[in-house]
Amino acid sequence: MLQLQLIMQKDIDLRITPEQASDIEKVRRIYSSQTGIPLRDINSVRILRRSIDARQRNIFVNLKVRGYINEEQNDPDFQTTYYPNVKHCPQAIVVGAGPAGLFAALRLIELGIRPIVVERGKNVRDRKRDTALMNREHVVNPESNYCFGEGGAGAYSDGKLYTRSKKRGNVEKILNVFCQHGADASVLVDAHPHIGTDKLPGIIEKMRVQIILSGGEVHFQTRMDKLIIEDGSVKGIETNIGKVFHGQVILATGHSARDVYYMLYDQKIKIEAKGLAVGFRVEHPSHLIDQIQYHCEEGRGEYLPAAEYSFVVQAGGRGVYSFCMCPGGTIVPSASGPRQVVVNGMSPSNRGSRWSNSGVVVEIHPEDFPEYEKYNELALLKFVEDLEESAWVHGGKTQVAPAQRLYDFVNGKKSSTLPETSYAPGVVSSSMHEWMPKFVASRLQEAFKKVGQSYKGYLTNDAILLAVESRTSSPVRIIRDRETMQHIEIEGLYPCGEGAGYAGGIVSAAMDGERCAEALAEKMKKEKI
Ligand code: FAD
Repeated sequence: MLQLQLIMQKDIDLRITPEQASDIEKVRRIYSSQTGIPLRDINSVRILRRSIDARQRNIFVNLKVRGYINEEQNDPDFQTTYYPNVKHCPQAIVVGAGPAGLFAALRLIELGIRPIVVERGKNVRDRKRDTALMNREHVVNPESNYCFGEGGAGAYSDGKLYTRSKKRGNVEKILNVFCQHGADASVLVDAHPHIGTDKLPGIIEKMRVQIILSGGEVHFQTRMDKLIIEDGSVKGIETNIGKVFHGQVILATGHSARDVYYMLYDQKIKIEAKGLAVGFRVEHPSHLIDQIQYHCEEGRGEYLPAAEYSFVVQAGGRGVYSFCMCPGGTIVPSASGPRQVVVNGMSPSNRGSRWSNSGVVVEIHPEDFPEYEKYNELALLKFVEDLEESAWVHGGKTQVAPAQRLYDFVNGKKSSTLPETSYAPGVVSSSMHEWMPKFVASRLQEAFKKVGQSYKGYLTNDAILLAVESRTSSPVRIIRDRETMQHIEIEGLYPCGEGAGYAGGIVSAAMDGERCAEALAEKMKKEKI
């Protein structure tokens, strides 16, 4: 009798142990037993989605798995975007080569516009020497640091690629573009995708090469110093090297470019103060976080990644939340100018360091500091500048960060000793409960107590707090029209990304870059430029 052979793909959900999930052959066998399809007919399986469920003592990995039944696995790992040559096309200027600027430039190319990218910092490789100098010798280059340079704040970062702002753009597209430029295709699979600071520079470099190969331009060590505006319309930019570039402008300068806010304020371009959150970076030994999150003395064991956590609690009527948690990571100096100490976190792709850190920040509002009211739209910016200067003073006027054991901070006690930390420039014991503004310190103390009740072991003197975590988002919004994405008063000016107050994080900044590029292309098309 003639036997029909099944040829198909079939997707199923599996809930299996971390050990089983670590071995694709085991996954194929489980797939076979769950579907009843004989193992010999399952050519291969592919993981489409992966998340860890660590809520209970028994930890599971949830997988969406595609089986290829009597069929070869030929589908590509990611979708490829086509970039045409735009050398002879009309041009537009992109200021800033962070995620917003780079993705804006790539999208402009897709839409037939030639991007001229202007970046104040160095290329991503040369930048590394300056960040090393910052760590070793406390030298802050105001044009090349963890915030400024090719790749922006996203280059020497953690490279976490998840975002809550999914409605604001096409997350899948952004992740696919990262893959096209060298990111591992696992970022399309993992619920919490992560690239790692060791891999990001290579990916960013490839994006720049793509822009140039397609006929665009990228100018490093070129800082926009002025917008050229005539009759309420932007005509181009002036730069610190004397070069003038003509065209409409996507302004993607990030939240650390404070000179840009001052320039806009001086040029009477409409901006407004925006809510912000500030606080500390807290660092625990990573095995301690693993023990808490995986409910197990042994920690993560062989098959689980360094554990993450996140929390939001109310304290003193305000939200206090964890921010940019870096499992198996390091704390880095993120100052972008003199007289500042600012901390942030990053991790390599293997998340293998002995520490896990996270920002813990409290929302602040202008009414918390009425004495800054005189600075108008720049009130929050001035407050944050002063806070960063206080951290610099309390750290000893270098990149050494003021620090305190977590339990001591909560109990208002100066730490007589400090635990080892990943922060390379060093730490000095400081009574942060005394000099941090009371409306920040008291809420953080209350919040840490609450978190300690839910996460047993978290509130410990084995953890250290470093000041100050202040670059959580932009203190200023550069106001744009919802529909046209242009500044509400200046035609042809597209405030973009985190610095304009419309994004927070790599993916949301990238999506905002794409949206600004689309709006600009639409306008150029209408005007037949
Ligand atoms: P930016 O990345 O700040 O880029 C702005 C660019 O503009 C910079 O390159 C700057 O040099 C340039 N520029 C500024 N002024 C001028 C000028 N006048 N002329 C020319 N160029 C100028 N986010 C995540 O989603 N996941 C993470 O894991 C993560 N980890 C982080 C770790 C660290 C250490 C830091 C500092 C940030 C991290 N972030 C992370 C935040 C993320 O990097 C930012 O949200 C994101 O980079 C914002 O993108 P952007 O393009 O809007 O601005």
